[in-house]
This record gives sequence, C-alpha cells and structure tokens, in this order.
Amino acid sequence: MEKFDVIIVGGGHAGCEAACASAQLGARTALVTMSLDHIGVMSCNPSIGGTAKGHLVKEIDALGGIMAKIIDQATIQFRVLNKSRGPAIWSSRAQADMHAYARRMRSYLEEQKNLFLFQDSVQNLLTTQEGLHKHVIGVRGKIFGELLGSCIVLTTGTFLSGMIHIGDSQIPAGRAHEKPSVALAQFLKSTNLRIGRLKTGTPPRLDGKTIRWSEFAEQHSDDHIVPFSFSHHQLPSKNLIPMHISQTVEKTHAIIQKNLSSSPLYSGQIQAMGPRYCPSIEDKVVRFPDRSHHQIFLEPTGLQSREIYPNGISTSLPLSIQKQLVHSIPGLEEAHVLKPGYAIEYDFIDPTQLKSSLETKYLSGLFLAGQINGTTGYEEAAAQGLVAGINAARKAQDLDPIVLSRSQAYIGVLIDDLVVKGTAEPYRMFTSRCEYRLTLREDNADLRLTPLGRSVGLVSESDHEKFLTRKDQLQQARHLISSLRLGDLAGFTSPQISPKDNPGTPLSRLIQRPKNNILDLKAYHPKLARTADHILRRVEIETRYEGYIERDSAHARSLSTLEKVRIPHNFDYQKVGGLSNEVTEKLTFHRPENLGQASRISGITPASLTQLRMHLQA
Ligand code: FAD
Repeated sequence: MEKFDVIIVGGGHAGCEAACASAQLGARTALVTMSLDHIGVMSCNPSIGGTAKGHLVKEIDALGGIMAKIIDQATIQFRVLNKSRGPAIWSSRAQADMHAYARRMRSYLEEQKNLFLFQDSVQNLLTTQEGLHKHVIGVRGKIFGELLGSCIVLTTGTFLSGMIHIGDSQIPAGRAHEKPSVALAQFLKSTNLRIGRLKTGTPPRLDGKTIRWSEFAEQHSDDHIVPFSFSHHQLPSKNLIPMHISQTVEKTHAIIQKNLSSSPLYSGQIQAMGPRYCPSIEDKVVRFPDRSHHQIFLEPTGLQSREIYPNGISTSLPLSIQKQLVHSIPGLEEAHVLKPGYAIEYDFIDPTQLKSSLETKYLSGLFLAGQINGTTGYEEAAAQGLVAGINAARKAQDLDPIVLSRSQAYIGVLIDDLVVKGTAEPYRMFTSRCEYRLTLREDNADLRLTPLGRSVGLVSESDHEKFLTRKDQLQQARHLISSLRLGDLAGFTSPQISPKDNPGTPLSRLIQRPKNNILDLKAYHPKLARTADHILRRVEIETRYEGYIERDSAHARSLSTLEKVRIPHNFDYQKVGGLSNEVTEKLTFHRPENLGQASRISGITPASLTQLRMHLQA
C-alpha cells in the first residue's frame, strides 16, 4: 500500500491548487482524479476573474498559488471590470483559451516534485477511531485500491451523486459525459456529515462557423493590461481576440414562456437551489417579465477551436427548444448547436461543519474545498483549494493551520462566510460581501499576503525578490509623492488646481482630487518620470483613499481583538451564566472557534457575547 502525507481527491480548480500547495510545502502528495485528461477543465464559462473573483485570483497569486500564473499563459481577452467606479472594486477578468489552460495546468502539476498523479475514482475514505476521536487514514480507489494518507482533501465539485437534466431526460453524470461520484457520495452520507443538494447550469455550445458575426458589436481587450500574476510584467501570451455582444429578443422570450412547463426547473423535476446571480435564461425571463432583451456574450473557448460559449443563456430546456431559442436571436439563425445546455444537481456538504482551516470539525484530517462546500466558480474553488492544501500539508507536518481573517483577504471573507453562516444556495464572491473593501484591493494583494505566502514556504525565492523590489519602489514613490509640492512641477497646469492653491500645496492634496491622474504628472518631474506606471497608480489609490483606509484599519483592529479570544472545541455553553436557550443551542450547534465568529452567528446578541467573553477570560 502506498503511503502519502496528503491525498487530494479531484483534479478541478480546488484540487489543482491544493495538490500544488501541499507538494510544494514538502508533503508527499497524491492527487487522485477520475480522469487525468480532465485536470483543470473549465466546466462552464471559459474565463477567469470578474467582479470580486479577480480579487481572489490576485490573492491566490500573492500567497504563492498557481491560478494567476496559468491564466496569464492562456488569456485571449483581458479587461478590468467596474473601471467607471472606485478602485476598490476594479476587478480583472481574462477570457481563457480553456484548452490551453487545462493543458498548462496538467503540465504544471506533472512537473511538481513530491506530487504523484493517479487516475482513479475514490469510492470511500479509510478512517480509524481512538476513543471519541475519529480520523482519516486514507482512501480506497476503484482501480488502485487503498492509498494511505494522514490528511485527505476532498474537492469533488459537482460530481457527488451528480444528475444532469435536459428537458425531462435525467442522466447520472458529474459533468457532461463524465461519470458521477456515487459510491463516495453514499459513503459520505453514511458518516454523520450534514449533506444538502444544489444545482447549477450551463448554456448550449455553438459552432462559430455557422454564426453571422457581422451582426454583433465587438468588445476588445483593455489598451493597458496588468497581468493577473504579480510576477508577470506583461502577458506571456499576446494572442488577444475580441468577444462579441448579442442579445435575446422578444421572440426568444416568447419561445421560453411557451415551453416553461418542459423546463425541469419549472416542472418540479429539479428541487435544488441554483446560483442566484447566474440564473438560467428561463429564470431571467420569468423573474424580469418587463425586460425585452437580455445580453449575451459570444465567447470563444479557445484559439484553435470554433466552439462558442454563449454566456447568458444557460438552460435546461429540451434540446429542440434550445435550438429554437438560439435560432430566434439575430445573427444566430443558422447557428449549429454542438452541445446541449443542461442543469446539474449534486450533493454538497454543509460548510458550517468546517473549521476556518477547512478541516472538518468531526473527522480529523479530512479537509473539504471547492464546490463540495456549496460555492460556485473556479476562483472560489481555487482559493479554498489553496488554503486546504496548505493546511493539510501543515497538519501532516504537525504545524498549526494558517487562517486568513476577514480584514486580511477576500479568501478570509469567503471561508468565514462559509464556516460561520453556511449557505443554502451556490455561494459566489461579491465585493459587497467584504466589509474592508478599500483595504482589500486587487492592487495590494501582494502587500497583504506575500509575506505570509513566503513564511509558509509557498512563494518562491525569485517571486519574493520581485516582491521586495516592488515594495521598495512603492516606498520610494510614497516618499517622493509626500515630499513634492505644486511648485516642484514646473509648468504643470490643470483645471483641478484651485485659486487657493500655491507653490507650497502638497502634491498629495492634488492627487486626492478625483479627476487628477497621477500619470499626467510624470512629464513635470524627472523622478516621477522614472517611476513605473503601475507603482504610481498604486500610490495614487493609497493617497486618494487615505482617510477611508485608516478607518477600515481601525475597524479591522477592533475585530481582531474578538478573533483572538479562542473558544475550545468542546466548550460547554451551558456553563456560561445568563445565556438564553436559543443562544446556547446556536453556539453549541455552530461551535465557533473564537468570539469573532460567535459574533457573526445570526441571533447571537451583544449581551450574550459579553457574557461569553467574561466567562472565557475569567
Ligand atoms: P470541479 O472543477 O468540478 O472538479 C471536480 C473534480 O473532482 C473533477 O476532476 C472530478 O473528476 C473529480 N472527482 C469527483 N469525484 C471524484 C472521485 N470520487 N474520485 C476521484 N476524483 C473525483 N461556475 C460559475 O462560476 N458560474 C457558472 O455559471 C457555472 N456553471 C456551471 C455549470 C455546470 C454545468 C457545471 C458542472 C459547473 C458550473 N460552474 C459554474 C461551477 C464551476 O465549474 C465550479 O465551481 C468549479 O469547477 C468547481 O471547482 P472544483 O474544483 O470544486 O470542482
């Protein structure tokens, strides 16, 4: 029997990050996945990033993860979203050559030292019990049999008892043409883990050569591209192509309305909750009856493929109706449907049964990451995979877990939301979920997280050196900006300069005025001219939002005082005087790890928190 420190089950976005992190931290790691040819596959949209998801990718990179490095090699269109709004919510989004992405991910994994890939389907986990303490000791695969490992990371995505729906057809599958994971789902049900069911969906894919492209508006990449990975100065791949924008019309909506009863979403065939913010076209037509059209982005799936992903028309209507709705769209009248759209239902595990390290509270050594925890999206999955991979390796090496706080990273917000509040519908990240938006920006993810990534051992020496150089350049630029006065910029004029300004007016005060662009100042001072644009832009954001950032930091400091008060896992809440039955029950059920988490459980009052704090600190 082969022995490993860590076994990762699943080669999707969570599994790839988990496997690389664990192996790079020196743990002998096995990655067991149903098909090695499907490592890093994008099950749905061919893109990485987007609102708040871009933040997650930058954070993964800053910590030493791999998603950003791989997508930079496979980008075919790149834009920063929300540019008309404040920099806190600027979010990078790359359209991906999904085939190139998956190929590069597999190569990256194959090159990892300490990482052993297995093509197999895990049927169940091997466990042992000492007294009340139960822990995992390995997995049993269908082909390779038993593999031993002191920590297991399950990243099984949509595969647990997956069931595809197209009209009234039901096909057991984990994803189109891939078998579901039934034995493992049954095993998990036999443990006392609480399990629920969710659903998601995907649009039909179209043959690009049958589309009348002249009908659609083109959307190009930004002129100025800042790659996802902090270690890349420019995109390694320069193969940028435009997307096309289309829309549904009234005829499309009429077809959908007429055939609603044959949609499994409306016939009662699907009971599980779907992603609220990524609804099917059926849902959009029903929920917004006054809208005469919905936008569709026609996204290529790769440079060497004609397959087009029509983003915006996810559907599980019968195939004949899918064809009708596609053909009702101007420019798609002759479009050939290559693959049908479908909905998929799958099991997920209630994430309130996890610690912030992503280890389950009741089965020691078992970590869960990705869609299995009720999330949706590649980036959410990868972020959890990275944390679970790091912590599984650290546990195998007898080290304490790393936990990211809400004030430190979007990844911290994601995991805290999951483990404290759980989710009843597929959870996706949004900037609005984060209370420290001005502090947790994409541009400063390296300052927030790279020192941690380096200290755990994930950030490579060369990436760390680049980070230290950037940090140094930033420091110098901050110093320069704070020392310069208007009078130092000979000849500079701007409508933003007011009569009250004089040669002694600090440059920082000018930068704080909304319409001033720091790059416009470069021509007026040699030291500014010598400073890299990306460094100046970062200092501009810091300067403009200085006051708000300080307020965020003060709030974060007060939160961290609560987070520092730990609550023992088996703590008996009955012993705390003055707690209501409701509060005692909720705390016993959720078993928060610290007072900060307890404060975020719904129904936990400030008074009960004070009682608990006094008891814990007595
Ligand atoms: P996955 O990427 O699903 O990977 C799971 C891996 O586990 C696979 O490699 C599988 O082979 C392996 N596996 C499973 N069981 C076993 C086993 N027993 N033994 C060995 N290996 C196993 N996200 C969005 O953000 N927006 C969307 O609109 C969207 N739509 C989607 C539509 C569909 C139809 C699907 C399937 C997914 C959709 N997603 C969407 C979700 C997105 O694909 C996932 O969130 C993301 O891929 C989850 O990553 P993961 O690593 O958790 O799982």
